[in-house]
Amino acid sequence: MKRLVFVLAFVGIFVLIGMSGCGILFPFAEDLFGQDDGREPEAGNMNMEFTSRAEGEEAKEDTEAKEPGGENTPASAQPETVRQQADRLAAMYDYDKAIELLQSQSEYAESAELQEAVAGYEAVKATCVEYPLEQITHVFYHTLIKDTALAFDGDYKTADYNQVMTTIDEFHKITQSMYEKGYVMVSVHDMATVNEDGTMSRGSIWLPPGKIPFVLSQDDVSYYHYMDGDGMASRLILDENGEVKNEYVEADGSVSVGNYDMVPLIDEFVKEHPDFSYRGRKGILAMTGYNGVLGYRTDAAYQTRENLDEYQQAWLDAHPDFDYAAEVAAATEVANAMKANGWEFASHTWGHRNAETDPVETLQADNEKWEATVAPVLGATDVIIFAFGADIGDWQEYTWENPKFAYYKERGYNYYCNVDSSQYWVQITGSSFRQGRRNLDGYRMYYNPDMLTDLFNVADVWDEARPTPVEPM
Ligand SMILES: [Zn+2]
Repeated sequence: MKRLVFVLAFVGIFVLIGMSGCGILFPFAEDLFGQDDGREPEAGNMNMEFTSRAEGEEAKEDTEAKEPGGENTPASAQPETVRQQADRLAAMYDYDKAIELLQSQSEYAESAELQEAVAGYEAVKATCVEYPLEQITHVFYHTLIKDTALAFDGDYKTADYNQVMTTIDEFHKITQSMYEKGYVMVSVHDMATVNEDGTMSRGSIWLPPGKIPFVLSQDDVSYYHYMDGDGMASRLILDENGEVKNEYVEADGSVSVGNYDMVPLIDEFVKEHPDFSYRGRKGILAMTGYNGVLGYRTDAAYQTRENLDEYQQAWLDAHPDFDYAAEVAAATEVANAMKANGWEFASHTWGHRNAETDPVETLQADNEKWEATVAPVLGATDVIIFAFGADIGDWQEYTWENPKFAYYKERGYNYYCNVDSSQYWVQITGSSFRQGRRNLDGYRMYYNPDMLTDLFNVADVWDEARPTPVEPM
């Protein structure tokens, strides 16, 4: 029970801790997990899929393409033609890739249609403006509620869910509202880049006027044991088409597959609205490890069967055929599919630790568990999204005299997020990127609807199934 309180009672306040000192450059661990490429995703990587598919299917599609320009057709319904792929890249603001794709076609020199399309992309690209990085907001959710009757059934978890979670119905309306206002998902990796020596530089985001970049994240996508039976998805899977979907355990024990949480809901939304994604970017999932990841029981404890809590023991008792290696393989497959589709992962600490109050030794031991049991499944990350909305410093720049920063930076973390109720808070220095995040949940909607008007109107979004009043924190 204690875990639930820890997990849910995050603090939405930026706590000030006094700290001083000047910056001294520190030797950087070059390669945390033996693979450099996982550390620093580039915007371009997200669209490699499109390009390579274009090359591979070009010949076939040129003869088979019968429905040009079907802009409203979901991408999965039929293979995209090269022209559709280019349109999609351009819709995602990746004009250079769209142009490159068409110009690389053998018929380009003779095709007025392709040349006209390129001219169109060039024209839109010329209107783009660089967005001020310090004005980019970051919003986050927890696991979405599918069945409000189960989540708000009056048991001891109801008040917590009502405070920190969001229903699928609300999520649909919020996403639609943000889309209509011009919001576009970007990554922290677009906002700042990491140089070879570990220093950081400002990134740049170019969008047509009126478009507003934002960062999206979701915390604790582990489908913790304590949530079983509370009306939320049970895990993420790959369906028969290779798409990431959720499983949901129905009241009678049967398992449904569908879009029951943020990841497949956003995937679906971007299929219909590619202009909601900046060059293929989706959100960042902030992941703990103690109950495994993505609904898979991948933590070492499930293998060693040591130090199990009551939930873990009960779960293992109920799953006598549990195969640890198969569990890790399945989770890794889902994570890889997500990354190929624009999603990123961050550490949320292995044990949902409070990085403000925990001593550095505790955070080190915790991060070693993340590296040992989570990174092999999700891949290396250089993003840490602190649990409880805590932080390892105040609003002033991190310094090397801060032992927690020195440790995390040495272990490869460059991007640091806390929780902050202001519209945006971004700090880019020569050694770190920091951003505040805003919770879009029952608590914020109930108590501070005026703080959300840049995103949506609470009265239009609020799920009437929520009990009121939402309990104060
Ligand atoms: Zn959390």
